[in-house]
Amino acid sequence: MVFYKTDDEIELIKQSCQLLSKTLGYIKPFIVPGTKTIAIDKKAEEFILDNGAKPSFKGYRGFPYTLCISVNDQIVHGFPSEYEIKDGDIVSVDCGVYMNGFHGDSAYTFEAGEVSPDKKALLKVTKESLYKGIAMASEGNRIGDISNAIQTHAENNGYSLVRELIGHGIGKQLHEEPEVPNFGKKGRGMMIRQGLVIAIEPMVNMGKKEIKQWKDGWTISTRDAKPSAHFEHTIAIVNGKAQILTTFDYIESKK
Ligand code: MG
Ligand code: MG
Repeated sequence: MVFYKTDDEIELIKQSCQLLSKTLGYIKPFIVPGTKTIAIDKKAEEFILDNGAKPSFKGYRGFPYTLCISVNDQIVHGFPSEYEIKDGDIVSVDCGVYMNGFHGDSAYTFEAGEVSPDKKALLKVTKESLYKGIAMASEGNRIGDISNAIQTHAENNGYSLVRELIGHGIGKQLHEEPEVPNFGKKGRGMMIRQGLVIAIEPMVNMGKKEIKQWKDGWTISTRDAKPSAHFEHTIAIVNGKAQILTTFDYIESKK
């Protein structure tokens, strides 16, 4: 069942989303060669707790950390660890914040040091795919319109879309209905209407779409070991259109 949100609830979700976006901005300076990813997780956790909120992921179905940190060929759900970030890595950081009874969810793939042109292009197209999807998230459209816009843009640039992991409704629960796949047909799926709050999150592979799951039970990486990127915003349908509740402005130094 889909839980449509009131304006007041959307405002609360936005507060969680804003703190989450600030958290991603706060950790950006630490995503440099030589930093252990576990140290970034600690920074994020402290920042969220200091601001009176809780990390959504920690303890979620037993996930042990505040952040999912997925480097290079890791797609999502990577564990922060003793791994030291290297020059040229792409580092996907996925974070959730829980405050005032509501979750926010956002992910960004950062560049560490000098990143190769082919990885830069992957990041650019993945982020563009996210915004193409968001542009289709308007009242009267269907979930498939979002999915199709993401898939079309990524595939037109020669990349592939992960099938097994998808976007989702969000609110009092981190993952709610509906499912928001990153592939699909126009005009299919649930009708989009006022009060829908969803996380849209394309995971785009440079090579083939196939994935593998690690023995840790969480980490997902590409089967062909080629890089993968991930960008995610939480959005709400307000006055017929998508309002983006998270922002990359704190990361991209626009605030
Ligand atoms: Mg996420
Ligand atoms: Mg999500």
